Amino acid sequence: MRSESSASDGPALPGGGSPLAGAAEPADATDPALETVRPGQPTPGAVRRVGPGAHEGLAEPGGAGRRQRHELWMRRALEIAVTGPEPGAGHAAPSAGGTPADDVPVGAVVYGPDGTEIAVGRNERELTGDPTAHAEVLALRRAAGRLGRWRLDGCTLVVTLEPCTMCAGALVLARVSTVVFGAWEPKTGAAGSLWDVLRDRRLNHRPEVHGGILEAENAAILRAFFR
Ligand SMILES: [Zn+2]
Repeated sequence: MRSESSASDGPALPGGGSPLAGAAEPADATDPALETVRPGQPTPGAVRRVGPGAHEGLAEPGGAGRRQRHELWMRRALEIAVTGPEPGAGHAAPSAGGTPADDVPVGAVVYGPDGTEIAVGRNERELTGDPTAHAEVLALRRAAGRLGRWRLDGCTLVVTLEPCTMCAGALVLARVSTVVFGAWEPKTGAAGSLWDVLRDRRLNHRPEVHGGILEAENAAILRAFFR
């Protein structure tokens, strides 16, 4: 099931040991998996490349079940986008004068290899006055803090909007194995719209990417905010 992504992601996870167990990991430059990817070969991510409106996943064996899981996870990200992290859950942010209602409603959730929710984030740029306080970055930071390591391989980040260049870069740096996003963002998207940072074969890590999940619902929430 994960064979297409194993070239850049390291060991396949199903049935194997959990990467959360803290097994020794090879240094990036010496990762033996990288040697299997040569120029001219399709990248693991490119195989799954989909454009806006494509019904990705449905044609492959097991794809329907995976899509169901992605939709379930996306509903949780939508909930975070709309309501924000639960108060008192350790997510309180210092206020810079804004309120959660001022922020574009984007929500992100990091799931572990076994599907456990590890951390969530909601866009808090206005709330905190922090230009980097995007939902993905906050969720990644919290997940890394909770796991006690920066490397989030085996994890899936689910976000309601196509990641920007900053967040796509952060997702690559965090070695996230899978990125699932909702609405396409033609103006700033870096997961296939304007750039494709996540599947740039010049980078040494390329997550599996699934875009357009619950696209209509995600787009509707954003439209309602900007109206
Ligand atoms: Zn971003």
